[in-house]
Amino acid sequence: MRMKMIAGNWKLNNNQAATRTFVQNLESWFAAEPAGKKAASAAASGKIEIVIAPPFTSIEAARAAKKSEIIQIAAQNVYHESKGAFTGEVSLSMLEEAGCKYAIIGHSERRHVFHEPDEALEKKLIATLESQVLPIFCVGELLEERSSGNTEKVLARQLESAWKSLTSDVVGKMVVIAYEPVWAIGTGQTASDADAEKACDYIRSLAFEKFGIAASDSLRILYGGSVKPENSASLCSQNDIDGLLIGGASLEVESFEKIIETAV
Ligand code: PEP
Repeated sequence: MRMKMIAGNWKLNNNQAATRTFVQNLESWFAAEPAGKKAASAAASGKIEIVIAPPFTSIEAARAAKKSEIIQIAAQNVYHESKGAFTGEVSLSMLEEAGCKYAIIGHSERRHVFHEPDEALEKKLIATLESQVLPIFCVGELLEERSSGNTEKVLARQLESAWKSLTSDVVGKMVVIAYEPVWAIGTGQTASDADAEKACDYIRSLAFEKFGIAASDSLRILYGGSVKPENSASLCSQNDIDGLLIGGASLEVESFEKIIETAV
């Protein structure tokens, strides 16, 4: 039984005040509302993880505002070097110190807006796995890659490049993969349940071929791309989808709560 994950990627949204308010409201929901209590108890018993990924400057506000371990914090990015002349970058030990459990690596905006290549993402993945921070590694095809029938080829390239030097144990226990078709991110065009499941099943089959049954069975795979309360239950109930990475709909605490509710 793989632990589900509902993760909110806030991108360039939510300053410190908004972060504090969000965390306080979410924790009040966990404490006071029946659906929130159910989610909190699922989190306490290891059935689900609830993660928010604020911008770097709001991470400390999230850590300070939360009163329990129900909410985990992720960074939206990280650099593989530990220190030095790398203006604008943040290291893994800095994320550890700030209280991050996870770091998102290779989000489609990092790949396509900031042009981070596969080789750079492999370095980030390896460095993250050598730290106390765990990776949420994103993969996904562009619309033209999908239209030309190359979805699986793209997923295989992105994953094989990133995890070629990893071991079965590490992949099964520490890695989370997020399948996020680029054409679905922020567009309102969610992948159908069947298409999302097909891609996640394919990712699991790649893990099986390279790392064997134990690692592929325990590897957590999320879907992301225009998830909202209306479609989260059916996406989340697919065999190979172990949770959701949510952008826009994670910014309002009410819609994030509704999505959590559909996953527990
Ligand atoms: C994302 O940013 O990872 C994402 C999936 O965004 P959205 O839910 O807004 O499509």
